[in-house]
Amino acid sequence: MTRSHDPHIPLSRPDIGRAEVERVLATLQSGRLALGPQIREFERRMTHLTDARNAVAVASGTAALHLILESMGIGDGDEVITTPFSFVATANAALYVDAVPVFADIDAATLNINPAGIERVISPRTRAIVGVDVFGLPADWSELRRIANDHGLRLIDDGCEALGARTDDGPVGSVSDATAFGFYPNKQITTGEGGCITTNDDDLAEVCRSLANQGREAADRMNHVRLGYNYRLSELSGAVGCAQLERFDELQARRKHLAETYGRLLQPVTGDLHLPVASSNRSWFAYVIVLSSAFRTSARDELMERLAARGIESAPYFPCIHLQPLYRERFGYSTGSFPVAESIADRSLALPFYSTMQEEQVQRVAAALTELLPALPQHSRSLAATA
Ligand SMILES: *Cc1c(COP(=O)(O)O)cnc(C)c1O
Repeated sequence: MTRSHDPHIPLSRPDIGRAEVERVLATLQSGRLALGPQIREFERRMTHLTDARNAVAVASGTAALHLILESMGIGDGDEVITTPFSFVATANAALYVDAVPVFADIDAATLNINPAGIERVISPRTRAIVGVDVFGLPADWSELRRIANDHGLRLIDDGCEALGARTDDGPVGSVSDATAFGFYPNKQITTGEGGCITTNDDDLAEVCRSLANQGREAADRMNHVRLGYNYRLSELSGAVGCAQLERFDELQARRKHLAETYGRLLQPVTGDLHLPVASSNRSWFAYVIVLSSAFRTSARDELMERLAARGIESAPYFPCIHLQPLYRERFGYSTGSFPVAESIADRSLALPFYSTMQEEQVQRVAAALTELLPALPQHSRSLAATA
């Protein structure tokens, strides 16, 4: 059946309203396009949302991760423990400072790093643990904190997918030594491109601010005291960010509602796929399902193609970092290094998910999945056919 007449449902879309447009126009006309009141307000709003003492706006989530590692003095030959199931930037940040990312496998239910596997990869060169709140579900921060404290390690949160998420000890953004947030257009809020560091450590915040601004000293802008970068966020981006944070509760509530709608509509097919953990601590970034292991590994890609034929975008989130060509070549990783992450990566699929998505669109995606799942290649099905 051809369904090319069906309107396209994208994987993700930014939610830009009148408030964002008006603020950007006003900022453009203000004559102040860098290092001004929009960035200051944006940082203030970020500290309120995360309960952190400091927020430093930067050019991207990747820049935030880079500066956190550098400000902690992590460098040549140091090791940083993180998850292989994340966006590649998590591990690349360690490479920027000549450190070595060391991976520990994930928990199949939460898709986050499994704390039980961390201690066995700690070495005398280990300096930090970088936890990631994958798809907006907070990592096990109390356990990560215990391990970090027991071994004298810094604790870093790649919270790029988790703005607004909570833990029993407080919001993501204030439960690690420093947290990186990212504001690419598919995130909970966007600034076009952008990022932010939050931390309760005033000294660390000051070093990050200096590093983002050409190594300037706070007190004297003509004094460059360290090798810095230009990782600043512009006033225009700050203006978009302020307007988005003003609407944060509305944006978050809408995402939660859509996730619950998916959860309800997909309940009948939970024998065939695992739904994301619906924790109230979660801030919904993406809606990622995992096909049951009864399916052959080709099933996920076949499903993506069939969804695409119906105008429904989807994406294989995430391919494992250690299996990317850069990491295979540099560190000699191959299939089998982190079996849980690899098995999830082969079977996971991000469905269309964004705050302006309509309920009818969620229904269309859920109906398509329900219809397509029984036709996908399964291990047991082919055995049954020959029996
Ligand atoms: C988006 C993201 C980043 C990087 O953010 P950018 O702003 O695109 O640089 C880092 N880590 C994770 C887990 C992300 O999802």
